[in-house]
Amino acid sequence: METFNVVGASLEEIAAAISDMGEPSYRARQIYYGIYRRLLRSWDQFTDLSKDLRKKLEQRLTINYPSMRRAFVSHDGTRRYLFEVAPGQYVESVYIPEKYRDTFCISTQVGCAVGCLFCATGKLPFQRNLSIGEIVGQVLFMKADRCPTFGRVNVVIMGMGEPLLNYDHVMRAIGLMTDPRGMAISPRRVTLSTSGVIPGIRKLAEESVIPARPRFPLPKMLLGEDGILLPTCSRQSGGFALRHYRCGAGHAYSDQQKVEHRSPARSLS
Ligand code: SF4
Repeated sequence: METFNVVGASLEEIAAAISDMGEPSYRARQIYYGIYRRLLRSWDQFTDLSKDLRKKLEQRLTINYPSMRRAFVSHDGTRRYLFEVAPGQYVESVYIPEKYRDTFCISTQVGCAVGCLFCATGKLPFQRNLSIGEIVGQVLFMKADRCPTFGRVNVVIMGMGEPLLNYDHVMRAIGLMTDPRGMAISPRRVTLSTSGVIPGIRKLAEESVIPARPRFPLPKMLLGEDGILLPTCSRQSGGFALRHYRCGAGHAYSDQQKVEHRSPARSLS
């Protein structure tokens, strides 16, 4: 019988699977809360469900996190995790402890097709996009491992891979992270970093993921027939925003908005 992984599944998807088993919908909410808020990793830990139901769930639904192979610990408490997401396919995530807030840096692809010259990942061949469960599973794993109580966390999507080249899975993973019924991470605490994938940034703007009144007027920076980000930001301080886009665009913008040529990346359009 085919099993369904609840790590990466939405409440609605879990509800559909539960309904197929003839169970009431409130069970889906218990499971969703157990996976994403209580960080439970086996059906045995769902002590709020009857033993019979747990047995049924075990046969139909799985709880699969990415497999952690090694953790490298730094003197300041920073931990780098090596996950094997499929035989021979590895990604890394980093946990950075801070006084008032912990930060999780996560990956979105195995390898990367962009190939920024300064980046070690850019030298690896691109293998595949991570699934929603593999993306969100990195946060769940690190949270369960380092800080099981739901404290204040940042998620930075800056690990292996270009997130906007895995747009749909990344957006759905962010939806799970910020869902108040589950992980409830503040949307303001989730940062996506891109090398400058123009179609992806445009899509973000069109889908209103970028706030109507962003701190920096991002869409104004996207113009240019050659697909290169232009320093048209009207605020002097816009250079801070532009810096995030310099590697993929093949240019660097200083705080004075002076253009310097840096390592060219492969075309993203
Ligand atoms: S897009 Fe990011 S992961 Fe990919 S090569 Fe550039 S810096 Fe590295």
